Amino acid sequence: MRMSQLLAPTLRETPGEAEIPSHQLLLRAGMMRKTAAGMYTYLPLGWRVLRKIMEIIREEMDAKGGQELLMSIVQPAELWRETGRWDEYGEEMFRLKDRNGREFCLGPTHEELITALVRADVRSYRQLPLLLYQIANKYRDEIRPRFGVIRGREFIMKDLYSFDRDEAGLDQSYWKMYDAYTRIFRRVGLTTRAVEADSGAIGGDVTHEFMVLAEAGEAAVVYCTSCDYAANTEKAESVAPAPAGPGSAVPPFEPVATPNVRTLDELTRFLGVAPDRVVKTLIYEADGQPVAAVVRGDHELNEVKLKRVLGATTLTMAGAAVVERVTGAPVGFAGPVGLKGVRIIADPWALAVEDAVAGGNAVDTHLRHVQPGRDWQADVVADIRTVTAGEPCPRCGGTLASARGIEVGQIFKLGTKYSQALGATYLDEQGQARPIVMGCYGIGVSRTMAAIIEQHHDDHGIIWPVSVAPYHVIIVPVMYEDKQQREAAEQLYEELSAAGVEVVLDDRDERAGVKFKDADLLGFPLRITIGPKALKEGQVELKSRDGRMEERVPLDATVQRVVAWIEDNTPQA
Ligand SMILES: [Zn+2]
Repeated sequence: MRMSQLLAPTLRETPGEAEIPSHQLLLRAGMMRKTAAGMYTYLPLGWRVLRKIMEIIREEMDAKGGQELLMSIVQPAELWRETGRWDEYGEEMFRLKDRNGREFCLGPTHEELITALVRADVRSYRQLPLLLYQIANKYRDEIRPRFGVIRGREFIMKDLYSFDRDEAGLDQSYWKMYDAYTRIFRRVGLTTRAVEADSGAIGGDVTHEFMVLAEAGEAAVVYCTSCDYAANTEKAESVAPAPAGPGSAVPPFEPVATPNVRTLDELTRFLGVAPDRVVKTLIYEADGQPVAAVVRGDHELNEVKLKRVLGATTLTMAGAAVVERVTGAPVGFAGPVGLKGVRIIADPWALAVEDAVAGGNAVDTHLRHVQPGRDWQADVVADIRTVTAGEPCPRCGGTLASARGIEVGQIFKLGTKYSQALGATYLDEQGQARPIVMGCYGIGVSRTMAAIIEQHHDDHGIIWPVSVAPYHVIIVPVMYEDKQQREAAEQLYEELSAAGVEVVLDDRDERAGVKFKDADLLGFPLRITIGPKALKEGQVELKSRDGRMEERVPLDATVQRVVAWIEDNTPQA
């Protein structure tokens, strides 16, 4: 490709709307343009990157026995009503009607459609297992589309669905995908962590998110610095302490007047105690029923964990009226001692605080010398707090660290949720109808492209890994109009193309500085500079974009050197 012909309109200025490097660079390097909020057109270079990512995904899916198909993006409402998700999905679903008033949506995901397909066309255990996937656009009407293609409303996704006879089969499919994902992300040049995640209301026992650790990430991840334990904050655990003893040396609890002291901050200052000596009690409503959640003062209650412990569908902070009815006091004075008529869910760390300060369930009152076990009991003891960096790893006792992560993939055991709702069964060896056991496995393809940039860029632009670079090499003659340079450049361009190298020739009548700047911004892995000095000695300069290789090579050895370099520098699984 000749630079003069390439549609890659670069921008000198960083667009104001772009907050993170990948968004800025995809726009600045002319790889994509915005169509509407959260929707993008991919220009030739961006699309070449996406095609390469998709090709790697296809190879790895096919290697595991996956079969590619393509489902319609427009999906009939009836199918979604069968699983109850037409209403559940809410505002995030793009909905439309045809001319006859029939309702449809733009597929945010494809469980319904693929299960209906398998329901109609799979009958026997002999046809299972089945791994079906597609790579297509998905639509979610996000409230706040941002970060370019990281949280878009239209995005490219690979979704694979596994269909097995039983749980054991599902387990095999699951770990096959786990392996394939590990290979895919390595091959596209990403460092990811497979993170244990909360399976949410779907209730599968295992789910992993593949996270790219990056500043721009929206998810919070906790990982061990010694072993491979990693989990998102909704799931992460650490080592829980033993409950406090009988506290024989602790005086009986007594009320202490705390006028207008409502926040933890005010309380610790007023009483001169550290936050980790306080137990705090939060009143929630779980499916409409009030519950009290007790955590240590300096700990953060994790609502996802609490919801899971309670098995609740909805969980909200209780309003002032409910708090007053449950505790007999206005908001700010709830405590576990003497709390009646409400279930108490306590975190183990709260039960380990000796001689604690707690709310007194009366206006302007707290209690001190509160001893757990002696003065109050929990109905349920469970991990309901957010783990923080520095705590011990639950696997190996090493130290946990925290980071931001971009979720590029998720694998999920669905079980029979969709096959039961949609009646997708097969006949086993005995001729008995059984629900098909399913899993689903997604990769955000466009998001992966952005995540690669988050991990591979510098102040000058993108540094594409060889495996996904739009072109491997750019040839930059310092002065294209110079006959000698032009001829050497053209010859090299021909020879590299013939050798199967993807190469761009910068044939523009621009200053060398401008051409170098563009080459850095666009991020081609290797640059060949043809300048007068080296050329006089029959040489050209090779420089890798990541700065790890810089050498002079004889003109007639260049093709061989470039081919070898590309091979050596392509990320392997
Ligand atoms: Zn560990």
